[in-house]
This record gives sequence, C-alpha cells and structure tokens, in this order.
Amino acid sequence: MTEQSSQEQKCIECGAASDQKVLLSCVKDGEDTWVCVHCLPILIHGAH
Ligand SMILES: [Zn+2]
Repeated sequence: MTEQSSQEQKCIECGAASDQKVLLSCVKDGEDTWVCVHCLPILIHGAH
C-alpha cells in the first residue's frame, strides 16, 4: 500500500497538521485542501 500524500491533512500555508492547529477543509484550484484557522485570515485578506 502506498500513502496518498495528496490526502494529507496539512495547512496549505504553514503546513500545520490537525493535531497542531484546527484545520478547515477548503478547495483551491479545484482540489480539496486544508487551511488552519491561523492562516485563514491571510487568505481572506489576500496578503500574498
Ligand atoms: Zn496554517
């Protein structure tokens, strides 16, 4: 069995796992992904 790294629950911004921060499911470029509550405001305000 190979691990599906795409299914890993890690924040797309900081890489935090769900045992470190609360993760929220979201969709980026049509792909299901995760973002933590710390990075969510960054995405909302478009700091990039
Ligand atoms: Zn994060």
